[in-house]
Amino acid sequence: MNTNNASHVPAPGRTHADFDVVVIGAGLSGLYQLYRLRRSGLKALVFEAGDGIGGTWFWNRYPGARVDSQSHVYQYWFSKEIHEDWTWSERFCAQPELERYINFIADRCGLWDDIQLGTRVTGLRYDDNGRCWHVETDRGDRVTAQFVVSCTGMLSAPLTDLFPGQKRFRGELYHTARWPKTPVVFEGKRVGVVGTGATGIQVIQTIAPLVTQLKVFQRTPQYTIQMNNWRWNEPDHKQLHARFDELKQRVHNTFAGFDFDFERGSYHALTPAQRRDALEELWHDGTLAFWVGSFPEVLVDENVNADVTAFVREKMRARIERPELAAKLIPTRYGFGTRRVPLETHYLEAYNRDNVELVDISQTPIREITEKGVRTAAGEYELDMLIFATGFDAATGALTRIDIRGREGRTLKEKWGEDIRTAMGLQLHGFPNFFMTGAPLAPSAAFCNMTTCLQQQVDWITDTICYLRDRGRQTIEPTAEKEEQWLQHHEEIANATLLVKTDSWYLGSNVKGKQRRLLSYVGGVAAYRQQCDQVMAAGYPGFVMA
Ligand code: FAD
Repeated sequence: MNTNNASHVPAPGRTHADFDVVVIGAGLSGLYQLYRLRRSGLKALVFEAGDGIGGTWFWNRYPGARVDSQSHVYQYWFSKEIHEDWTWSERFCAQPELERYINFIADRCGLWDDIQLGTRVTGLRYDDNGRCWHVETDRGDRVTAQFVVSCTGMLSAPLTDLFPGQKRFRGELYHTARWPKTPVVFEGKRVGVVGTGATGIQVIQTIAPLVTQLKVFQRTPQYTIQMNNWRWNEPDHKQLHARFDELKQRVHNTFAGFDFDFERGSYHALTPAQRRDALEELWHDGTLAFWVGSFPEVLVDENVNADVTAFVREKMRARIERPELAAKLIPTRYGFGTRRVPLETHYLEAYNRDNVELVDISQTPIREITEKGVRTAAGEYELDMLIFATGFDAATGALTRIDIRGREGRTLKEKWGEDIRTAMGLQLHGFPNFFMTGAPLAPSAAFCNMTTCLQQQVDWITDTICYLRDRGRQTIEPTAEKEEQWLQHHEEIANATLLVKTDSWYLGSNVKGKQRRLLSYVGGVAAYRQQCDQVMAAGYPGFVMA
């Protein structure tokens, strides 16, 4: 890891510097974007708000943070040589190792010189005459660039200000996505966790044995899958290295960008015994294959979904000692897989402990945060520490927090305030030469193992910029019709699934006033990639170049 990267970081506050491309964000996608732009001979600069690189794996250093994608598919594929110099210690590795991996990549590729840390992009303004973007930061930089690529992250805008009275709390208050680098002591403390999504679950199962008391404030119970994690050994490393080419191909050709797929045929074609066997086998695998690599009908057919839901409920019930707890922890109001399904280790068993209490805030909502703790409709819970695992303004939040003004001064916030739409999740009508990764209406959030999609999107963006350069063109922008066509295609697929029947952050339901629309494209990673490739091969129909 580069421990002295400050010396490589250009001084902030620059003016009048011109770049071919400004990249926003130094997470997995921003770093790969920088790598590809440099290799294409383009002058690029990355602005990163954090004081380190890694994005998700820089900010989310909470106890228990780890991937739900298997490590051997959650990685870069651009260099076999670099790949062979890295080994994953576990099947599902934890945050510190991911942060080390990302720093290792930046070191090996010499990326540091073009990354400016600790700098938040606050404004982007398109100049129609100059055919360029004016970029402003919170540290006084004023630069121009022909292109801007936003790699600001699908899950990077945390929801932090949720309850009245938060500032009054006298104990320690943390949001999981802004976890401090300094050690946090749990021993001897009464701790509250608000939120039981994928992150809350990781925190709860990790700190339950450490704290004196744990109060879990749960609004919505979750279906969970038991993670089957293990440590890799030397022969495993050799085997995974040898599979590089095969895995690289494989992830780009599956439904969700993993190394598993819907390969068991139709659920309807199996006998009840065969179905049970298949579900048991998938369950034992302990990966997201149980969800996005089992049977496609799970996501679209209510009867199949009901069967699989009953199976998961049975598995969960077997691990919870008290029936009244099981009644609160096992979802009853929605079907399996229609919200993000977390993997977990000893999560349900945590509630069998005497020091853990589940507070059902769907029955007794949180009224306010007090000086001493949390007041719900049922009374006050006194705490020494409060942890918000309250999630993100997904897909749109990181972008609408920047003042982005396209042609004729129209802001992105206004555009998405009316209707969340994009052209293939990659570009926006009215915002020429502005590209995005991890944006709405592209595959994401477990409907894509994100490293697969992010690399594919960065490749498309880079190849598009090079296409323009090689043909002497200055700008590219999708037409309104192209956006509309993609939106209709997206909606047709989304509305055929059960996902749109359940409130969740996938639909923006966790953010007050946000339009209800499935944010991720669920037509499949392979199908999405083919459509992107076709657009390029056909000379960008639906995009205007000048
Ligand atoms: P990010 O990693 O979010 O990086 C975006 C960067 O942009 C951040 O560093 C941010 O500081 C910066 N930024 C944002 N706005 C600005 C601005 N205005 N100016 C300057 N910088 C800015 N995905 C999976 O596929 N599998 C998993 O197992 C998985 N686990 C996850 C676990 C957690 C706890 C979370 C939160 C997410 C997880 N994800 C997972 C999704 C994860 O976000 C992606 O896999 C991936 O890391 C996203 O990379 P990115 O570069 O697109 O965005």
